[in-house]
Amino acid sequence: MVPSLALLPGLSVGGLPVQLRRSQRRTVSLRVTAQGLTVYAPERTEEARLRRFVEDKRAWAERHLQQLQQGQPDALPLTDGFPLPYLGQTLTLQAMPGLRGAQRVGTALHAPSEALRTAVEAWYKAEALRLFAPIVQHYAAQLNRGRPLTATRLTNAAGRWGSCTAAGVVRLHWKLLLAPPDILKYVAAHEVAHLAELNHSPRYWAEVARLLPEYRPAERWLKEHGAALMQPWR
Ligand SMILES: [Zn+2]
Repeated sequence: MVPSLALLPGLSVGGLPVQLRRSQRRTVSLRVTAQGLTVYAPERTEEARLRRFVEDKRAWAERHLQQLQQGQPDALPLTDGFPLPYLGQTLTLQAMPGLRGAQRVGTALHAPSEALRTAVEAWYKAEALRLFAPIVQHYAAQLNRGRPLTATRLTNAAGRWGSCTAAGVVRLHWKLLLAPPDILKYVAAHEVAHLAELNHSPRYWAEVARLLPEYRPAERWLKEHGAALMQPWR
């Protein structure tokens, strides 16, 4: 059966009309590309429900769309020989058939050619899990006020390098491993300082400066290169 394509009349996100694709599927989902938004829906879902669905996701979709439009049109696909940034070093990706997962061998990262991107990203996430907690704990130990650190976790949120909750959970984006080590330290200190101050007040920045006196170059670096770092490959 050929899925029917239509528009959701009068509805636009990021200045672009919203496309509607109905097919024999069971759930409603949304896809954002640089060309705009497409809603995938079952044949009989009411239009009013689809409009609510889009409205609920509007803020996220507009942010995502903006990133796609200004982002990295020239991000390259992960292929054999791809230079993988890793904490200021470069690992050369080597695609090999039949491997079970990615594995570092000296300055190379061997990964299964059948699932290159999945394996490479899983490897980065495992490294991030291993490396981030001690760094966050290092800064948390220097904090003499605020809430205690309860956990360090990973995030995969587009456009956010880290977060800190009122419950004391610090999250860092695994893609910080693509940046030089100073950038990772800065984001760790930045989020840990939120354990003392859940805002960006002068008192908060004083806390950051106490944890990491030389934080400003890293902050600037991230403003300049952060967007590209979020989309290092496709
Ligand atoms: Zn902050």
